Amino acid sequence: MADQSLLLPPSMTVFERGWLSSNNILFQHEQGTALVDSGYMTHAAQTLALVQHALDGRKLDLLVNTHLHSDHCGGNAILQQAYACRTLIPVADADAVAVWDEERLTYKATGQKCERFTFDASLSPGDCLMLGGMEWQVLAAPGHDPHSLILYCASEAILISADALWEHGFGVIFPELEDESGFAEQAQVLQVISELDIRVVIPGHGAPFSNAAAALDRARSRLDYLASDPRRNARNALKVMMAFLLLETRQFSLQALDGLVRGNRIMWAAAQKLDAPVDKLIVALAEELVKAGAARLEDGELISAR
Ligand SMILES: [Zn+2]
Repeated sequence: MADQSLLLPPSMTVFERGWLSSNNILFQHEQGTALVDSGYMTHAAQTLALVQHALDGRKLDLLVNTHLHSDHCGGNAILQQAYACRTLIPVADADAVAVWDEERLTYKATGQKCERFTFDASLSPGDCLMLGGMEWQVLAAPGHDPHSLILYCASEAILISADALWEHGFGVIFPELEDESGFAEQAQVLQVISELDIRVVIPGHGAPFSNAAAALDRARSRLDYLASDPRRNARNALKVMMAFLLLETRQFSLQALDGLVRGNRIMWAAAQKLDAPVDKLIVALAEELVKAGAARLEDGELISAR
C-alpha cells in the first residue's frame, strides 16, 4: 500500500532523477505551471521531454532554481528556449548569471558543464512564492552552497529541501574546501528545518520521504563526523566530484583524472587538504568507487557501472 503520508497535492508531480541530474518538481494549476530545478545539461533533452509529456500541450510559465549547481539548472537553457518561461534564481547568484561568470558559478572550478541561461528576477530568503496554487516560503539554506534556497509550504507541510537535507545526508559542504565557513551554516539550516512542521520532504536527489526527524538525526551526526575532521569532508568531496564526472563521461583513465583534479580549482582545493600525494589519492578513491559498485577499473581506466 502506498505510504499515505507521502501523498502530494494533485497540482504537484516529482520527477525523481538520479545523482547526475537533480529531481524536478512540476506544478500544474489554473493559476499557472511551474518547475523547480531542471537537472544536468547532458540530461536536458530528457528533462524537456518529461515536462512536455506531463504538461500535455500546456506551456511552462515559471522556472525556479533552489541553487545553481550544474545538476540543478542544466536544463534551464533548453526550457527557456522551448517555453520562454519566466525564470527565478537565488538573489546571491544574480550578478554572476547576468555576466555568466563560470568561475563564480563553480562550473569551471568543478569541471562540470552548464549551458548559459538568463533570468527574469531573483528570489530572496523571506520571499513568498505561489506554486501549484499553494504558498511557499523561501528560506536560506547555506552550508552546501552559500547561496542555496529551500522552499516550504506550511499549509501542506511540504519541504523542498534541495541539497540541504536528503533522506541519508546532504550535499558536500563546498565552502569548507576553500577555507570558508560551511559546517556552522549547515548546522543552522538543520536547526531551521527541525523547527518546521513537515509531512513530506522532497530532496534534491532521491525519493521523497516522510520521516524528517530521522533524516535530521542522521544529517546531524554526519555533520558532526565531517566537522570534527575537515579532511573527511575534503575526501568525500573529491570522491563525489569524481563520481559525478564519471557519470557524465562514463569512462576515463586515472591519468586523465589526475589532470582533471589538478586543473579544477575546487577539486584541487579538496586534494590539497589531504595528506596523500594526488596520484595515490586518485587510486584510493577510484578503488572506493569500485568497492561501492559505482565503477570498475580495467587497465588504468575507470568505467562507470551505473
Ligand atoms: Zn548542489
